[in-house]
Amino acid sequence: MAAAGIAIIGGGPCGLTLARLLECKGIDYIVYERDESENSNRAGGSLDIHAGTGQHALREAGLLDGFKKYARYDDTAVTIADKQGKRLLQMGQNRDAPEIDRKDLRQILLDAIPKDKIKWGHTLLNAKIGEDKRPMLEFTNGVVLSKFKLVVGADGAWSKVRPMITPAIPQYSGKIFLESKVGHENPLYETTVSRVGPGMFLATGVGKSIVTQRQGDGTYRNYFGIQVEENFFRNGVLKLDVEATRRLLLSDFYADWAEEYQDLIRHATDLRVWSLYTLSTEDMNWKSVPGLTLVGDAAHLTIPNGEGVNLAMTDALKLASKIAEHGIEDVNRAVQEYENDMFPRGIATIAEGRRMEKVMFDEDPQAFFQALSDAAAQ
Ligand SMILES: Cc1cc2nc3c(=O)[nH]c(=O)nc-3n(C[C@H](O)[C@H](O)[C@H](O)COP(=O)(O)OP(=O)(O)OC[C@H]3O[C@@H](n4cnc5c(N)ncnc54)[C@H](O)[C@@H]3O)c2cc1C
Repeated sequence: MAAAGIAIIGGGPCGLTLARLLECKGIDYIVYERDESENSNRAGGSLDIHAGTGQHALREAGLLDGFKKYARYDDTAVTIADKQGKRLLQMGQNRDAPEIDRKDLRQILLDAIPKDKIKWGHTLLNAKIGEDKRPMLEFTNGVVLSKFKLVVGADGAWSKVRPMITPAIPQYSGKIFLESKVGHENPLYETTVSRVGPGMFLATGVGKSIVTQRQGDGTYRNYFGIQVEENFFRNGVLKLDVEATRRLLLSDFYADWAEEYQDLIRHATDLRVWSLYTLSTEDMNWKSVPGLTLVGDAAHLTIPNGEGVNLAMTDALKLASKIAEHGIEDVNRAVQEYENDMFPRGIATIAEGRRMEKVMFDEDPQAFFQALSDAAAQ
């Protein structure tokens, strides 16, 4: 089967930004994405796109004006409260970090790439070095491809490209977010609108948190942040039923939280688990492997700290620029220079994720308020 110059595994924000940038520079590429189509139901909520990183990448990709049509500048506000419901701090208004729904960001990028440049329904099963010393890609649909000058792992937390480059394995942090939606039809919807309004409402206290965030269509998502052993919910109570999970959250995790928070649990009709995994700062030093590299979460997965998608798009920009500078014939040099530049960013974001994790789940909520106040003052 004929192959293109660059294979990008994963059509998330990072892989698609890279694709668009290569498209602009006239460099040959193909994206392989596990979703069945561009209409596949995408998980994940709203993302804040920062001026110097995510927005910069979009500007270089010629997509900043398109982004601004969706960008929600009034959703940057954050209200912080304690578990009794006492409002402690309001911050983030007028930050140049507008919110956009993940699905809208994806659509902007998809609309900027020819349709035949993305192969849907291609889940990478494994990758290995073939007899010609080039990466060979095996997909779950039976397709096997090789002869790429470069394979870029943009396939997120559980990258199948990563093991070809580094033995690094994401470690479980002991923390999860349980996500639930508050749609227009939810009896709690009107109360949530008046309680949260635009932006985000973040309640924290004694090793737990609850985040409520407005989405582009005016609905809300709640994230219940708690500490449990690995796969506790996946294998256990949530697998059995949502009602049992609600009861458990109320009795074992949020029993002493104010009624307004407990109501969020009582009205949660769907619950999805986001287990928080991270790579370590020591993982950020692999020896460059010819014909292969990693970008975004595949390279430097961290605990969510508000930077993930922004750094992912920055990786895409840096890698595309290096490939354009050195040309596809000298792609390994481009990769080496990209990786040397990326490692310090990876180390910084993993360390910052660890710091955020510690303060967000601290026994003393004051540490979290201080961290947010410091961030707001920068
Ligand atoms: C609960 C939660 C909240 C977050 N909130 C924020 C936030 O507010 N701001 C922020 O900046 N970041 C946030 N993040 C982090 C952010 O989502 C990631 O950093 C960002 O999505 C990384 O982009 P990516 O393209 O590298 O990876 P992903 O977004 O994970 O995309 C990977 C793509 O690869 C595809 N794929 C995966 N495996 C394969 C395979 N084997 N074969 C083919 N395709 C594959 C996937 O379908 C997907 O399309 C949050 C993360 C979590 C878990």
